[in-house]
Amino acid sequence: MSVIDSLKRTEHTGENRCLPCTVVNAAVVAIVGLALGVLWIPAGFVALAVGAVLVYLRGYVVPGTPSFAPRLVAAVGLSGVFEHDDESQPRQSETLDANVDPDVMLSTLLDAGVLVEREDGLFLADDARDDWESTMATLRKASDDELADAVDAALPFESDVAAEFDGISIEGPSMSVWISRPQAIADVATLLAVTERGVDPMVSLAATEPLRMFTEICPDCGAPVEETTVRNCCGGTAGIYDSPEHEVLGCAECGAVVYEFGDE
Ligand SMILES: [Zn+2]
Repeated sequence: MSVIDSLKRTEHTGENRCLPCTVVNAAVVAIVGLALGVLWIPAGFVALAVGAVLVYLRGYVVPGTPSFAPRLVAAVGLSGVFEHDDESQPRQSETLDANVDPDVMLSTLLDAGVLVEREDGLFLADDARDDWESTMATLRKASDDELADAVDAALPFESDVAAEFDGISIEGPSMSVWISRPQAIADVATLLAVTERGVDPMVSLAATEPLRMFTEICPDCGAPVEETTVRNCCGGTAGIYDSPEHEVLGCAECGAVVYEFGDE
């Protein structure tokens, strides 16, 4: 058995490699390497090299990572991007991020002035709405391929983005997502407007779906949206929606589903 083999931890590498753990550990190695490098440059290089090799071979260097990293990643609303499980099938999702820690996201959006809290509830701040709607108006004129490029440019992680099946498909690090054109327009506008206000791009990503709830105009055609049910818009039960009474925010003009209310 070679030295390398004895260092290897197959339960945390290869197919079993945990992406959140690897990302968190790579960040820790980089920070430690930089900190040492400030004191003495060769020490920084050595720490970076050793740390990188250990993360590669063992999956992690920070003790206990497999239990804390997924929660850390979930806390920033990223668990939809890095799935911590052993399923070899890429996860399919209809949104950019399905699992959001609502408290972290809400306080971040309030602090950044994206949302404002009034007596009668939460509202999108006026200037954020202006930015959001003007970006949507620009993207509305884009072709599907141009929209795919805009999604690619706005996403804070490496991915393959393509215009497919009348919408946008995104192949991320360990999952694939398909979103409709109206959703893609709204979500790119959210990423730009929210990140511009100093919010971490990963938190902005987590905010894309919930912020669609605040839309007043259809991202795709600019007509007003209304609270309705699948039965009354959007192709009824003929489409992918199996529940006709499901409440949605839909466009009366083009039938786009902008936001689906959860089942309470
Ligand atoms: Zn519309």
